[in-house]
Amino acid sequence: MIAVQLRYSFRVYPSAGQRSALARAFGCARVVFNDALRLREEARAAGLPFVTSAELSKRLTAAKKAPERVWLGEVSAVVLQQSLRDLDTAYKNYFDALKGKRPRMGAPRLKSKRDNRQSIRFTPNAAWRITPGGKLRLPKIGDLKVKWSRSLPSTPTTVTVVKDAAGRYFASFVVETNACEVLPQTTPELGIDLGLGHFAVLSDGTKVDSPRFLRRAEKRLKKAQRDLSRKQKGSNNRGKARVKVARAHARVADARREFHHRLSTRLIRENQAIAVEDLCVKGLARTRLAKSVHDAGWSAFVSMLEYKAARYGRTLIKIGRFEPTSQVCSVCGVKDGPKPLNVREWTCGACGALLDRDVNAAVNVAKAAGLAVPACGARVRRAPVPAPRSEAGIHPKRPTRLLWEQAGIPGI
Ligand SMILES: [Zn+2]
Repeated sequence: MIAVQLRYSFRVYPSAGQRSALARAFGCARVVFNDALRLREEARAAGLPFVTSAELSKRLTAAKKAPERVWLGEVSAVVLQQSLRDLDTAYKNYFDALKGKRPRMGAPRLKSKRDNRQSIRFTPNAAWRITPGGKLRLPKIGDLKVKWSRSLPSTPTTVTVVKDAAGRYFASFVVETNACEVLPQTTPELGIDLGLGHFAVLSDGTKVDSPRFLRRAEKRLKKAQRDLSRKQKGSNNRGKARVKVARAHARVADARREFHHRLSTRLIRENQAIAVEDLCVKGLARTRLAKSVHDAGWSAFVSMLEYKAARYGRTLIKIGRFEPTSQVCSVCGVKDGPKPLNVREWTCGACGALLDRDVNAAVNVAKAAGLAVPACGARVRRAPVPAPRSEAGIHPKRPTRLLWEQAGIPGI
């Protein structure tokens, strides 16, 4: 049985005193992260070996005794240790990217008080807990009021407290569950490609666009940004406009996550196996610039497909880019060369199939993964279909009432 880690997030409402304790903890975690980052970068500049995690821990213990860092003792030691862990993860990701194992990314950089997202993490060592009264008890911070919008399937191991750009606080729990919720077998298999001008194109010919509630949130964000740019620097109104932009940003992020959850749930439920392109490989050979715009969203979506597949007994196959998918006919397999981007459909010179560029790519992805998709899939041309009503149908007046980072599969 596979153990699957799920994340459940809930809004928390700290009191004024708790907010300042949290601010102190965010600040200390940031200082520890930055001190360690500087240490490693100085060592690198001086041509010295990479400073190990053990060495960083030792330095942290010593730093707490130094007069100029003595205030580090005011926050949970676990929070500070976890901050060092975060730095290790940032370095690991960066090194993996250099080796081509992940999409390209920058070196770890210093954290700032002005960063949009502040967070601290408590592991079991920190002896945090949920009180009988349903509050979240954090060491050196207190009992926080939580809005439990759904129940946890088992006892969480780790909690991360996040403050987002809009000034909201969330507790994000990691819960281990067994992958025992395997769905009954089904037959369809599916290939998915990132469409140009669509969020995703499926090998059955469906083109999925972002739902209306997401587009509306994006539109609102653009308007808020325009309003902000018109305000005078340093003015009171500019401050207000900036908060509005941050709120609009948070809403777009929420709406996008909600959309990814709904779509990934639907696809996992309806298909036994799903193939997608592995962006890590694809990122290296990227030529289609237009696609890079939604890469970030795409990888969040793919990781949802991944854990839901593990949890519900489906198969997700990530394929490396074998050859440019637009060059190969998905019906007869003949490779007839590259086509300029403005060519949206063409007729295969070898077999006469009418091919839609995006659908052809999705079928090729499925075939490269060894899936059995109907060969005629690429030939079927359908009008673009937005996410079905059940996916997009949130009450228009309440686009922001979304469950934050909902991790489970609702309605299964
Ligand atoms: Zn052909």
